[in-house]
Amino acid sequence: MPRRASFSYPRGMTATIDQEVRDELRATVRRWVEREVLPVASELEHADEYPEAIVEQMKAMGLFGITIPEDLGGLGLDLLAYIAVVEELAAGWMSLSGIVNTHTIAASVIMRNGTREQQERWLPRLATGELRGCLSLSEADAGSDTRNISCRAVRDGDEYEIAGTKMWVTNGERAGLIALAARTDEGITCFIVEKEPGPRFGGISVSKNIGKLGYKGIETVEMVYDGHRVDASCVLGGDEGLGRGLGWILGALEVGRINIAARACGVARAAFEAAIRYAQERVTFGKPIAEHQAIQQKLADMATKLEAARLLTQHAAVLKQNGERADVEAGMAKLFASEAAFEIATESLRIHGGVGYTTELPIERYYRDAPLMIIGEGTNEIQRLVIARGLLKRYAID
Ligand SMILES: Cc1cc2nc3c(=O)[nH]c(=O)nc-3n(C[C@H](O)[C@H](O)[C@H](O)COP(=O)(O)OP(=O)(O)OC[C@H]3O[C@@H](n4cnc5c(N)ncnc54)[C@H](O)[C@@H]3O)c2cc1C
Repeated sequence: MPRRASFSYPRGMTATIDQEVRDELRATVRRWVEREVLPVASELEHADEYPEAIVEQMKAMGLFGITIPEDLGGLGLDLLAYIAVVEELAAGWMSLSGIVNTHTIAASVIMRNGTREQQERWLPRLATGELRGCLSLSEADAGSDTRNISCRAVRDGDEYEIAGTKMWVTNGERAGLIALAARTDEGITCFIVEKEPGPRFGGISVSKNIGKLGYKGIETVEMVYDGHRVDASCVLGGDEGLGRGLGWILGALEVGRINIAARACGVARAAFEAAIRYAQERVTFGKPIAEHQAIQQKLADMATKLEAARLLTQHAAVLKQNGERADVEAGMAKLFASEAAFEIATESLRIHGGVGYTTELPIERYYRDAPLMIIGEGTNEIQRLVIARGLLKRYAID
């Protein structure tokens, strides 16, 4: 087992739970990933096979309820604990962090914006993983341009009838709960839609399982709502939530962006650690390639980017956890960490030479997984717009 640096959180970063508890959780998940995930990750990924057995173990560890309060059945831990777990999962296999991610965003939007009754109705089952959540915001013509959502929910007595097609729903088929953005008379509203896992339920059907470059083993689907009916009690936040769904989901996506940044740190760390190990083993021109200065330069740049990415991610998590504005910082963390992961995965592939291009090693997997972080939860072009808008507000001269 390679010796690994231990990463602690910078001084001054306050959090709601002890550092010790957080470190213990990280260490437990890291050991579990090394034992249960790493030996099978590439095989399952190449087969595009859903990791049922691994997910059962994740449920047993409570990983679906990390940030859900204890009185609602979760572990009641903070965002710093969450990002530590996400980094560990992604360092083993990025898709595992994807299984937890949109689930956690759905839980987060219920936690923040649901009525107490709605929290009690859904959060305990989400916390155990008995009910698995997903987020359905995007459509074919509403990715970056979220205001262009056309999926519609029309009130009919005590119910709403939903019609439209949603795209890119990660976990969509296996989820039992969807945080759905749909247009109502008041604007875009968030509905919490329960369904049976599977390709068809009531008026909802999975019309396409989208093939992907990486991020395999977890489904990302197109879903059609053909007059699907839900009770009016599924409007998040009750009547006061009508027309407020987009703002609430975008707020929860700040957590999503911090999550993507943590995920990027995980993939980047795995790629970096593989590279620094290989550089000491591989000999060319009579010495390990780690002794060639050109390789040392790469390793130094990779480690520096990784460390900076992790610090930005932790900083954004602390702000968000403390209830402070984190739009700029979450955007910066996501932007920097995802670009760093992409660059570090590419450099790791270069350092591995020909063998890095083969399916014998996981480097090609990191290389295929990394670009998703540049696109998901708002592309990096959009992150720059979010960051700039936030900065212009903070630095307004009048
Ligand atoms: C594997 C995968 C999983 C996903 N999972 C989910 C999910 O679970 N739930 C969900 O709701 N969505 C999900 N998404 C959707 C994802 O959030 C969108 O793909 C993303 O927001 C980009 O939208 P788009 O694909 O429509 O690209 P577009 O918006 O069409 O963008 C195309 C290009 O134009 C650029 N661009 C667009 N507008 C501007 C602008 N104003 N200024 C500058 N550049 C701009 C973009 O940055 C990009 O480079 C997923 C996507 C993928 C690929």
